[in-house]
Amino acid sequence: MHAQQQFDVIVVGAGPAGSSAALVLARAGLRVALIERGEYPGAKNVSGAVFYAPGLLAELLPTFWDEAPFERYITRRVLTFLGRESAFSLDFHTRHFALPPYNGVTVLRPKFDRWLAGKAVEAGALLITSTVVDDLLYEGERVIGVQCRRDDGALYAPVVIAADGANSFLAKKAGLQREFSAEEMSLGVKEVLRLGVRTIEERFHLTGDEGMASEYVGEATGPIKGGAFLYTNRETLSLGIIVQIASLAQQRIRPYELLDRFKQHPAVAPLVRDGVTLEYSAHMIPEGGWQLVPRLARAGLLVAGDAAALVFAAGIFLEGMNFAVASGLAAAETALEAHRNSDFSAATLSGYRKRLEQSFVLQDLRRFRLTPAFVNNERLQNLYPELLCQAAEQVFRSEGRPRKKLGSTILTTLRSKVSLWTLLRDGWQAGRALFF
Ligand SMILES: Cc1cc2nc3c(=O)[nH]c(=O)nc-3n(C[C@H](O)[C@H](O)[C@H](O)COP(=O)(O)OP(=O)(O)OC[C@H]3O[C@@H](n4cnc5c(N)ncnc54)[C@H](O)[C@@H]3O)c2cc1C
Repeated sequence: MHAQQQFDVIVVGAGPAGSSAALVLARAGLRVALIERGEYPGAKNVSGAVFYAPGLLAELLPTFWDEAPFERYITRRVLTFLGRESAFSLDFHTRHFALPPYNGVTVLRPKFDRWLAGKAVEAGALLITSTVVDDLLYEGERVIGVQCRRDDGALYAPVVIAADGANSFLAKKAGLQREFSAEEMSLGVKEVLRLGVRTIEERFHLTGDEGMASEYVGEATGPIKGGAFLYTNRETLSLGIIVQIASLAQQRIRPYELLDRFKQHPAVAPLVRDGVTLEYSAHMIPEGGWQLVPRLARAGLLVAGDAAALVFAAGIFLEGMNFAVASGLAAAETALEAHRNSDFSAATLSGYRKRLEQSFVLQDLRRFRLTPAFVNNERLQNLYPELLCQAAEQVFRSEGRPRKKLGSTILTTLRSKVSLWTLLRDGWQAGRALFF
């Protein structure tokens, strides 16, 4: 074996999970190979994208706030229930999120991923791009390296971190992850539209570096289960739809038709008017939650980020990048410990799961384990947003006639389509999934 084929750790995938892991490991002085199939990190990656809890990286990169390619700090969050012709929004704005350690920042993945991987390279990691990892190499039961799709493509290391994203071939090949069902996977389709700094600030009532993250449910995706998003970057908007694959297949609508419908909704069209499309992309998201989280390690192998389905998709939350970074850091710490003890057994690497259980990563996924099934409830997806809009229309309508009390107006609208028993049951399930 050539010396250049032997590393201390091989990280597959230069997304947020892989690059964070590679950065920590290289900084600790290990020989790290970071292998990415794209021409450059981020070339193939898609996110909304709001990077929540960006302070996670600040400990590693003290100059992070000044140099990371952030677009805007999220100070305004909006949740909108779309009916066919109307919209009902919850609009939250706080200046507290405009201060370090900022609650969330918008990023453009090609820039952000490239920057983060660059930090791993500065720390000493060897970034190998345009290279697909096809398989794992074994000695008995232990993973000892990877096979890349190129001549002489075997690379060796006592620990491999699979951070190869949604639908990870490596996690499946290693027998750690099962096949997903179409109910557990979503497809995200996204556009980046240029509007210009001034238009964005005027249209979304933002000043300076402030930004907005807006999510939509209901008519946003028509009859298909899912939702939509619209985020402000510095001079562009990121907007898209995220739909459950099973539901998409049933309804036989093309995702880009759905995205067009969303853009034409009367509540959305004025926001995207005159936007020039710069980018169009699509990507899968493992949205099944807790039940999709696989075994996270075996001898010589750790799985991080989307590859381990560590995505928090719980209705009002869609967070994957921070979960990817946190799991990448935990995987790196575990690999460091294994190197310190020269022990790469499944028992030592199982410390990775313990680390994640002590952090928000597995705690949030476990606590909100009922939420993915709840948000896919047919009525929540299609009926309630429409009824909510109808109820609001009744409440705000002035006809020069005596009004009913608000409770009675709302209940009459809801009960026109849903029985009281179903309402109570859905309320109880909402409580269990999100509140208690
Ligand atoms: C439309 C959409 C909107 C989203 N919005 C948000 C959001 O607003 N906020 C948020 O936090 N999350 C969001 N997410 C989720 C987020 O994008 C992911 O959770 C996150 O990117 C996971 O990071 P990762 O490093 O695990 O995987 P990825 O970012 O997918 O990186 C995996 C990397 O591995 C590489 N790779 C894959 N296979 C191989 C191979 N065999 N060999 C070599 N390289 C390989 C890929 O090219 C890629 O660079 C969104 C996702 C989508 C699709």
